[in-house]
Amino acid sequence: MRTVTFPVGGLYPVRHKHAAHRSAIRNAILPAVSIVPLRQSHGPDAELCVAPGDKVGEGTRIGRAIGDLCAHVHSPIPGLVREIRPVTLPDGVISTAAVIDLAGSFDRLGKVLARHEWKTLRPGTLLRLIEDAGVVGMSGVSQPTHTAIDARAAASCRWLIVNGAESEPYVCADHRLMVEHPAEIFEGLQIVERLLAPDRVTVGIGADKRDAMRRMRAHDADGRRRDYVRLSVKYPQGDERQLIRAVTGLEVPSDGHAIDVGCVTVSAATLYAIWEAVVTRKPLYERVVTVAGNGVARPGNIKVRIGTPIGGLLAECGGVTDPVARIVIGGPLRGYATTDLTTPVLKYTTAVLVLTATEVNAAPTAGCIRCGRCAEACPMGLDPARLYKLVAHGRSGDAVDHGLYDCTECGGCGYVCPSRIPLVDGLRDGKANR
Ligand code: SF4
Ligand code: SF4
Repeated sequence: MRTVTFPVGGLYPVRHKHAAHRSAIRNAILPAVSIVPLRQSHGPDAELCVAPGDKVGEGTRIGRAIGDLCAHVHSPIPGLVREIRPVTLPDGVISTAAVIDLAGSFDRLGKVLARHEWKTLRPGTLLRLIEDAGVVGMSGVSQPTHTAIDARAAASCRWLIVNGAESEPYVCADHRLMVEHPAEIFEGLQIVERLLAPDRVTVGIGADKRDAMRRMRAHDADGRRRDYVRLSVKYPQGDERQLIRAVTGLEVPSDGHAIDVGCVTVSAATLYAIWEAVVTRKPLYERVVTVAGNGVARPGNIKVRIGTPIGGLLAECGGVTDPVARIVIGGPLRGYATTDLTTPVLKYTTAVLVLTATEVNAAPTAGCIRCGRCAEACPMGLDPARLYKLVAHGRSGDAVDHGLYDCTECGGCGYVCPSRIPLVDGLRDGKANR
């Protein structure tokens, strides 16, 4: 089996996966209160369809998607809608949220869900089931999945790639899903293959996940030809552009999308959610989140309801032990720091990290010494120091000319910068303020 990697930039951060990657997925205690934002994708808020005082069931739709960038939102618990209020998401965006108090009985929890046959269903019906369940990309770009694998994508898709890279340090939720639920993920892949009818299918799994590779291959017995490749552990191997570059050699144009070069990528967690949506007709209201970092007592991979405040999730993991330097939602390179323990878990929350001073390796910010390390690390071939400087001097237009929008916000440049310059934050600001 070949090992592939992307050719430009990248880095090998300390992996920190040991604490959680062998930890079997465990179920979180149900939250007494769920705070469910209506923005669960990189699009606008869904349209609210409940009001304070309404009774909701487990999986009741509470937000209706508007347009292609938005996904339906469902209640993760049965209960009463206490209030509707704004919440700040980890990336600083304000979303309207439904606050739901737990009450009543569960329709699905603790029950064996009936299996629905899908092989005789039309593609339009399969897509509608995925859309109705509110499935979004769960390990990166949170695009509503039914728009990523629809008839337009099927017309152009030649190469379907399963993204099992999970190259950020600490994060291992997808790894555990592949080890523990390969049959479901594999069937999710068959559903996507049915919708897209690609010429080629490649399953890419991180070279550090040999057990996941074994388990996935053991379920590949339907006679279809699929390639399996080991993905190098270089970061950010899981980024869509780098994944496509490594597997196919194709370059996604800077102002384009994967489908422009005939590729569709889908992560293991998303395939699992597709399987749940189609085979068990379960909306996406829970997911596996890695909780890790030296500051948490019992790191692990927790199946948790969307809308659970991260404080509840940390309590589930024995609480915080050492003095905490930073709590990060997502991976340490790409994620967002927060101090607000009421921040809710979203459909695309991969991890909650409680990092100590040693792990953060914090130091005061100093001036740029022009060492060039940030440019060496950039997988997009950019000069982050120059972009940062342009943005800082209010010259975002010039930064755009030098590739600001090619920046995928992978965080690699900031990670290697010896002067601790917050390069990614600066570049994000540059884009936001254009
Ligand atoms: S955050 Fe942007 S500029 Fe920095 S390394 Fe990643 S792609 Fe390059
Ligand atoms: S890594 Fe930091 S110090 Fe070195 S050139 Fe880039 S911004 Fe300057």
